[in-house]
Amino acid sequence: MTQTTGMESKVREAVQLLTELQEIDDGLREIALERGDLPEEVEKLEGQIQAMEADVAQRKADLEKTTAALVERTEQLGGAKERLVKFQQQLYAVKTTREYDAITAEFNFVKEEITRCEQDNARDTQRTSELTRQIEDRTTGLEKVRVETKAKADELREKLAETEVEERGFLHRRENVVVRLMKPLYAHYERIRKAKDGRGVARIMDGACGGCFAVIPPQTQVNIRKQVDIVLCETCGRIIVP
Ligand SMILES: [Zn+2]
Repeated sequence: MTQTTGMESKVREAVQLLTELQEIDDGLREIALERGDLPEEVEKLEGQIQAMEADVAQRKADLEKTTAALVERTEQLGGAKERLVKFQQQLYAVKTTREYDAITAEFNFVKEEITRCEQDNARDTQRTSELTRQIEDRTTGLEKVRVETKAKADELREKLAETEVEERGFLHRRENVVVRLMKPLYAHYERIRKAKDGRGVARIMDGACGGCFAVIPPQTQVNIRKQVDIVLCETCGRIIVP
C-alpha cells in the first residue's frame, strides 16, 4: 500500500478532472459535428434575405419616386400643351412684328419645355417598367431564399431539439469540472484543445502520446502512471494521462 502525499492526491484529482473534461468536450464536439454547417448556413441565408429585402425596398422607393415624378410631369405637360395652343391662336391675331416675335419666343420656349418633358417622361416610363420587372424578379428570388432558409432552419431546430438536452447536460458537467480544476492547467488545456483538433488531453498508447504518437521516455511513462506529476507531451503539448 502506498500512501499518497497531498501533492499526489492533487495530481490524481487533476488527472481525473482533465480526463473527464476531455470526455465532455468530445461529447460536445460530436454534437457540433451532428449540427454540421447548419447554424452557419442558416445565419448566412438570413443575412442574404436581409440584403435582398433592403434591395427590393430600395427599388420600390425608387419606383414610387419615379411614378410621382411622372404624374407631376404629365400634369406640367398638359399645362404646357394648353399654353401652346393659346399661343398658336394668339399668333393668328397679331398685328405687329414685335408682338409676333414676342409670342414666337414664348411659343418656342413652351415647345422646348414640352420636348424636355416628353423626353423625361419617356425615360421615366422605361425606368418604371424596368423597376417593376426587377422588383418582380427579385421578389421571386427572395421567396426562393425564404423557402430554402425555412427548410434549413426547421432542420436545424429539429437537430437542436434532439441534442439540446444532451448539450445542456455536458455544459453543466463541464462547469462543475472547470471550477475544480487549477486555473493555469485549465488555461493550458484550452489552449492546446483549441489548437490541436479539440484534444487537450491524450492517453499513453503503446508508450507514445495518444495525440501525436511521439514516444514517451519509460521513466516519464512511470511518472504518468503513478500520477506523481502532471506531464505534458514534449511534442504536441497535450496533457498526458494514463
Ligand atoms: Zn503529443
